[in-house]
Amino acid sequence: MEVRRMMGHGGGGAVAAGPRQPPPAARVSGARVQAGDALPLPIRHTNLIFSALFAASLAYLMRRWREKIRSSTPLHAVGLTEMLAIFGLVASLIYLLSFFGIAFVQSIVSSSDEDEDFLVGSGVAQREPSAPSAPVQCALLGSSAAAPEKMPEEDEEIVASVVAGKIPSYVLETRLGDCRRAAGIRREALRRITGSQIEGLPLDGFDYASILGQCCELPVGYVQLPVGIAGPLLLDGQRFYVPMATTEGCLVASTNRGCKAIAESGGATSIVLRDGMTRAPVARLPSARRAAELKAFLEGPANFDTLSMVFNRSSRFGRLQGVQCAMAGRNLYMRFSCSTGDAMGMNMVSKGVQNVLDFLQDDFPDMDVISISGNFCSDKKPAAVNWIEGRGKSVVCEAVIKEEVVKKVLKTNVQSLVELNTIKNLVGSAIAGALGGFNAHASNIVTAIFIATGQDPAQNVESSHCITMLEPVNDGKDLHISVTMPSIEVGTVGGGTQLASQAACLDLLGVKGANRESPGSNARLLATVVAGGVLAGELSLLSALAAGQLVKSHMKYNRSSKDMSKAAS
Ligand code: ADP
Repeated sequence: MEVRRMMGHGGGGAVAAGPRQPPPAARVSGARVQAGDALPLPIRHTNLIFSALFAASLAYLMRRWREKIRSSTPLHAVGLTEMLAIFGLVASLIYLLSFFGIAFVQSIVSSSDEDEDFLVGSGVAQREPSAPSAPVQCALLGSSAAAPEKMPEEDEEIVASVVAGKIPSYVLETRLGDCRRAAGIRREALRRITGSQIEGLPLDGFDYASILGQCCELPVGYVQLPVGIAGPLLLDGQRFYVPMATTEGCLVASTNRGCKAIAESGGATSIVLRDGMTRAPVARLPSARRAAELKAFLEGPANFDTLSMVFNRSSRFGRLQGVQCAMAGRNLYMRFSCSTGDAMGMNMVSKGVQNVLDFLQDDFPDMDVISISGNFCSDKKPAAVNWIEGRGKSVVCEAVIKEEVVKKVLKTNVQSLVELNTIKNLVGSAIAGALGGFNAHASNIVTAIFIATGQDPAQNVESSHCITMLEPVNDGKDLHISVTMPSIEVGTVGGGTQLASQAACLDLLGVKGANRESPGSNARLLATVVAGGVLAGELSLLSALAAGQLVKSHMKYNRSSKDMSKAAS
């Protein structure tokens, strides 16, 4: 509450000079409306005038009354001044009663408003609109004012300057040389600007230096997520304990059950069909004919060695695999694909592509590069090109689940599972016009592993493309299950993989960092674990659906902790 009051005045004052100051009516829109707001003079002046009028009228009438009694004059004989005094007394009485009386009654009736304020303070109720939101938010994101030559010494002074827009908060890390202190100051400025206490968002317990210039700008805290373990996942003869960061009840438990079914059936096997990250710049040429000439040059086998030499210059690990072009009128989309070692590879492939574009400019000076990314790549968007051609790692993972395991662990039978998969994952998805979505919930497992291991969670879009196939084998007794995932985009170096928690999860899987003997094998192994986890997840969810258990298990695991302990007991 105190902070909010401060913002109503101090914050508003800071904004008053800004060009986009809201009108006064808007600025007080969140404040309680008082009767006095309607008066032409400030309320304290009106109060003073009416109080004085009341006292003067009363004193005059009392004095006149005493004189009349002494001189035996009848009390009802009133002159003009007495009439004016009576009028003044009545008017001031009405005024004082209506203002002080109403305010008094209001204070009793609206004591519940204080509770609301208390809730606002604790971040539970809706926030009162804070007056200066637009201009001060700019101060947080980056004020147009240049940072002063010399930073103030005290944190309090720096916070005030950030709030006032005198210091852009993005300079704090570099100017203070202390990332934790910078995050703390920015957080306090945010608190004052918004009035939100953000108490549940922790500040301490995180290494802010580890994200500087790499993972997140303008930090004010970090979000906590639980990590559950599914496993062991028996995959290609190795046991993996799969870390999954999620807040969806049932997900880890279900994947764990799938892992159990796989392990009790002898394990799963996987194969990486392709490993290459893509980037597709778009360039406009004077004519479609000229664009076709560039396409022929890029796709001509005779030019591959030259292009690779140019492309590979910027990295020890990025190696050009090929270029695939598409045209739209005179625009040419050039989809470069390259191996990227243990990195997910977006930076690497982009640098290589830039080298080639610079090189091409000599022979194709009329080439106008519109963008280094022309969306034919295609990154973080559902696109058929990834589904058909692949992006990142293309993986197939399979297992034969024994009849008795289907019965005992999955509580269903082979025939029901096969039928369900056909009708739901294949036909149902076809009916829905799915693009790479021929599965039950691949994205659930992909995203949970991605978050736990520091992958780019936005790439779950194409990384979750998956077709799940189920067939009866061994005279219809056992179940063959496979997941085919053409575009799993993962890395074990770079990005979020180097952060402490995420690196610990990669370490648990034995794929932390770069593989020195065989660059790329850590990332490929991680991709197979993702596919193995998806295999387990598909097996378990399909079984739950086939056995009609889904709602029951969600009721059990999505309940509050109270209900959970009941369920556990
Ligand atoms: P991305 O291309 O996925 O965005 P980065 O460029 O952030 O990844 O990180 C890759 C960095 O890691 C590069 O500088 C690269 O030279 C280095 N690196 C070290 N070892 C390896 C390895 N085994 N595979 C790939 N990159 C590696």
